[in-house]
Amino acid sequence: MKPDVLISEVGPRDGLQSVKATMATADKFRWIDALVAAGLREIEVGSFVPPRLMPQMADAAEVVRHALTHPGVTVLALVPNARGAEAALKAGVHKLTIPVSASHAHSLANVRQTPDEMVEVVREIVRLRDALAPGVGIEAGISTAFGCTLQGEVPEDEVIRLSVACVAAGADESGLSDTTGMANPAQVRRLFKRLQAELGQHAGSAHMHNTRGLGLANCLAAWDVGVRTFDGSLGGLGGCPHAPGASGNVVTEDLVFMFEAMGVTTGVNLEKLMAAREPLRAGLPGEPLYGMTPEAGLPLGWKQGV
Ligand code: ZN
Repeated sequence: MKPDVLISEVGPRDGLQSVKATMATADKFRWIDALVAAGLREIEVGSFVPPRLMPQMADAAEVVRHALTHPGVTVLALVPNARGAEAALKAGVHKLTIPVSASHAHSLANVRQTPDEMVEVVREIVRLRDALAPGVGIEAGISTAFGCTLQGEVPEDEVIRLSVACVAAGADESGLSDTTGMANPAQVRRLFKRLQAELGQHAGSAHMHNTRGLGLANCLAAWDVGVRTFDGSLGGLGGCPHAPGASGNVVTEDLVFMFEAMGVTTGVNLEKLMAAREPLRAGLPGEPLYGMTPEAGLPLGWKQGV
C-alpha cells in the first residue's frame, strides 16, 4: 500500500554541501544503502556543480549510478544550470530539482542571476530534458520563499508568481523552501493554499528548516492544507552555524516520528532510520547530528507496520 506521505531525504545533497568536510564516495554509498534499507523511496543524492566550487559534490555522477542500483528508489539531483542538468541526465537521474530564489538579493548572491533569469534557465533545462530523457521529472524549488537573510521580507505575490512561471516554463512541479528558517505555520498554510489554488497537481513539496525550532510545526501546517511530500535531512545534517544547537534542515527522524505517531504512514521504519545515523557518523566524524527522537529514544510500546 502506498504510504500517506512521501519523505524525500535530502541529506546527501543539502546536508553534505553545507558541511566543511567531504564525505568519501564509499561512505556515501553505505549511507545511501542504509537510508534505502530504512524504507526511504526518494533521495536527493547530490548536486551537479563545478567541483572547484563544491568539492563535496565532485563524485555526484558516481553516487547517482550507485543509488540507481536500488530498485524502486527515485534518485534526485540538484542542478543550478543547463550544464549541470546535462551531466545529471547523462548520469541517469530520475528527477531534477532546480533552485529558483524568490529573493532578488539571494538570487544574485547565489547564482548571479535574477529570479526571472532563473525561470529562463528552467525553460532551457526543460528543453534539454525533452531532448535527452523525456521521462525525467523536473521540480522548481522556490528558495527563500518565506523570508531572506539578505533582503528580509519576500513578498508572497512574488513567490507565487515565480512558482507559476516555472510551471508555465515546463517544470512538472514547484515546491516551496524555507531556506533561511524564517517561516511560521500561518504563513506556510497561507502560501501552500495559494500555491495549490494556482497550480493544482503541479504544487510540489515542503522543504522546511528548523533554525528557529518551527520545522515540524511548519511541516504539520503544510500537511493540514494538503501537502504530501516533505523534505528531511537525516540527523538534521547541515546545521545552521548562526544558531548553535539548532539544526538547519528538518530532522528526518523527528519528521517520521511525528507522522507515524499521528497514524500517517511514511513507509519508513524509524528504528532502521535511526540506525542509518551510524554510517553517516562514520563518514563524517565529529560532525554534530541533531534530532529529538534519536536522543529520547522510541516511546514504550512503539509499533510500526513497516
Ligand atoms: Zn535545506
